Amino acid sequence: MKICFASNNINKINEINEMLGTSYDIIGLRDLHIKEDIPETGQTLEENSGIKARYVFDKHFIPVFADDSGLLVEALNGEPGVYSARYAGPEKNNEKNIDLLLSKLEKTQNRKARFETVITLIEESGNELQFKGSIHGTIIKNRKGAGGFGYDPVFIPDGYNFTFAEMTSEEKNKISHRFKAVQKLVAHLHKLNENHQL
Ligand code: IMP
Repeated sequence: MKICFASNNINKINEINEMLGTSYDIIGLRDLHIKEDIPETGQTLEENSGIKARYVFDKHFIPVFADDSGLLVEALNGEPGVYSARYAGPEKNNEKNIDLLLSKLEKTQNRKARFETVITLIEESGNELQFKGSIHGTIIKNRKGAGGFGYDPVFIPDGYNFTFAEMTSEEKNKISHRFKAVQKLVAHLHKLNENHQL
């Protein structure tokens, strides 16, 4: 069974392919010759992952899933959220995004935040489902660590005393928001496969 992952990230596509085994063949946007950027016009992660999945489904009528992730900071009422990649501007610069976040939190005691991933799956029937994963933690005042990407150098997950950027990618991937959401999607697809339902 072919399912499209509405992404061009080969690493993400391969990772899910490996988790699903041979019952599913995960293809990317390139395989469907979708070259344009899908407009991400939603105000929430739920809306944006839904928009991306629906865009592909409406063109090709095959099962499809799309993900959207972001950092939600409690004292900033959930900012940067859906704007995480382009918080400091359309050039999507990680360093500028972190600088802006730290300046907004400069005088703030409450440093609680969470990363969240929302995956929207549209099944062959058009039925739409969402799977969510999150990890709670704290935003520190100065960057620590050289690994990871995005806001990793300023995020310490609860129960740890080092940042995501100080972890190996294996360590991070075991506890990350993205991994938790993907695990739920994979469990759902395995169940559908057992019941021959997708
Ligand atoms: P995407 O939906 O996976 O492309 O994530 C959107 C943006 O959220 C990224 O460009 C990062 O700024 C931020 N983000 C999402 N996941 C992570 C993470 O695991 N670490 C750090 N930043 C993240």
